[in-house]
Amino acid sequence: MSATPSSDTHSLGTVDAVVVGAGFSGLYMLHKLRELGLSARLFEAASGVGGTWWWNRYPGARVDIESMEYSYSFSEELEAEWEWSERYATQPELLAYLDHVAERFDLKRDIQFDTRVTAASFDETVNRWMVETDRGHRVSARYCVMATGCLSVANVPDFPGLESFTGKTYQTGCWPHEGVDFTGQRVGVIGTGSSAIQSIPRIAEQAAHLYVFQRTPNFSVPAHNGPFDPAFLADWKANRAQYRREGRENGFGIRALDTSEQLAVETPPEERQRIYEDRWARGGFSLVGAFADLIFDPAANATAAEFVGSKIREIVKDPQVAEALFPKSYPIATKRLCVDTDYYATFNRDNVTLVAVAAAPIEAVTSAGLRTTDAEYELDSIVFAIGFDAMTGALNSIDIRGRGGVALKDRWAEGPRTYLGLMVAGFPNLFIVTGPGSPSVLCNMAVAIEQHVGWIADCIAHLSGGQLAAIEATDEAQDAWVAHVNEVAEMTLYPLANSWYIGANVPGKPHVFMPYIGGFPAYREKCEQVAAGGYEGFALSSAAS
Ligand code: FAD
Ligand code: NAP
Repeated sequence: MSATPSSDTHSLGTVDAVVVGAGFSGLYMLHKLRELGLSARLFEAASGVGGTWWWNRYPGARVDIESMEYSYSFSEELEAEWEWSERYATQPELLAYLDHVAERFDLKRDIQFDTRVTAASFDETVNRWMVETDRGHRVSARYCVMATGCLSVANVPDFPGLESFTGKTYQTGCWPHEGVDFTGQRVGVIGTGSSAIQSIPRIAEQAAHLYVFQRTPNFSVPAHNGPFDPAFLADWKANRAQYRREGRENGFGIRALDTSEQLAVETPPEERQRIYEDRWARGGFSLVGAFADLIFDPAANATAAEFVGSKIREIVKDPQVAEALFPKSYPIATKRLCVDTDYYATFNRDNVTLVAVAAAPIEAVTSAGLRTTDAEYELDSIVFAIGFDAMTGALNSIDIRGRGGVALKDRWAEGPRTYLGLMVAGFPNLFIVTGPGSPSVLCNMAVAIEQHVGWIADCIAHLSGGQLAAIEATDEAQDAWVAHVNEVAEMTLYPLANSWYIGANVPGKPHVFMPYIGGFPAYREKCEQVAAGGYEGFALSSAAS
């Protein structure tokens, strides 16, 4: 195996594998490559590890899946030594965890921070990738693993007049490291997705006045966050292996979902109400696990939506505001359900105003604030919580060229096409962690990432062991997988929402349902079958070909 990685910034190095991104995915990938005895170089645009948890430092940022489940399970020692302090860890705690992982497994010596990969091209004559960075590196690698993240390219605000604003602007997806003090300020938050729903209650506590500019309301359920009960922790420690397995066996990779097989439409209203109340009291995504038909049957879905609507009306004192906060244009859970602490109650504060901008859109940012078609709002700061160019944004911003110099961006002009979300026909030895076509964002990402990285590592070991030079998805297998991804999406209510899952949040982006909704266990089984069958649907080539 070649092993001449270079830490010298501008020289040409040769490694077995290049990994792009140092979040949950890239860190574990690097560790697995090391275990295989391969040399690897990891490039990361940020100045530290953590990915999502390095960039998203807005007030209130925390995980929406319980910490015990949103963490690595590959190392028993790591699990045993790390103690989470809260049911839903905060961003600083998650960042400290990922930094601990990087230190514990001595990963940083192979990571080049503050370095963005700009291009990667496949040289068919030698079956190698040439990877280039914005700092002038050119590295040749047998394998290239894109661990670039599904939600790592924050949408850039392009409101007319933005440059004229004399106050301060912030984006949740790249928050200042030193934090922001909004005390005494008039603040506008644009957006009401998960990032806004987490930050709004915290900003409202500081600001003199907070205006929330809402285009589409989101459903949110309470986290009921808090420190861990020692008895709960002891139980987890005693039953960790079983609980982790139960998480992997859940369709969304989340044990706490506690998915029921009962149908909402066949459950008498009083019992249904009791079940929803119980799930609401548990908190988090468990509401979605209440009934098996919620994401398939509009009538079942309406019962859950109406239940959350009744909670909004209960919590929010002003009936008009409550109605405006209650989503009616899409089924519940078909946009990512938000998990909050005090979100709806925040609208009872005297210093918070909800501004519905669907009917009266934002026209422009002015020097003094923001103008909708209805009114002007004077602001000292504007927070843009406007989301991400999800799933394809990071990949399409790298000039990736496969066989014949074909650009991935061009291949995906009408939407992404992959085999299993892992590889793309025409791009040999290029692996994607949680790519479009995989469960990824419809799964506990920690679970999805460990499965993907494990599969990729096994595949690379198979190639190295068998003296094979390249693996590539066939067009037929890719077409069949894309058709299957669409088919299972159409069986659900998900395509009914204008969500980032279908690219609807980025003007001009093709509308294609990107993640795989067939369930994590079914997906994992398919991946295992493919590997056990000698990598069915992939073409394997020897060094001579
Ligand atoms: P990321 O963490 O996004 O890391 C990708 C890294 O690649 C980034 O650091 C980026 O800088 C780097 N990169 C990208 N392109 C390049 C390039 N060209 N050159 C160099 N570096 C590059 N998922 C859950 O399951 N549960 C949650 O509670 C949850 N909460 C979230 C909260 C927020 C605010 C966001 C934005 C996402 C959340 N997610 C959650 C999804 C989250 O992205 C994943 O859980 C997980 O962190 C993804 O890890 P990753 O390593 O695949 O990607
Ligand atoms: P998001 O869900 O895409 O929300 C973006 C918000 O901005 C939406 O309300 C959107 O309205 C609004 N918006 C965008 N452009 C606008 C414009 N021009 N004018 C007015 N409003 C505009 O993004 P996000 O909140 O960052 O979350 C993205 C994903 O990251 C989540 O779904 C989740 O998977 C993950 N996340 C998780 C957590 C967590 O709880 N752990 C926290 C943050 C993020 P429309 O709906 O009308 O487009």
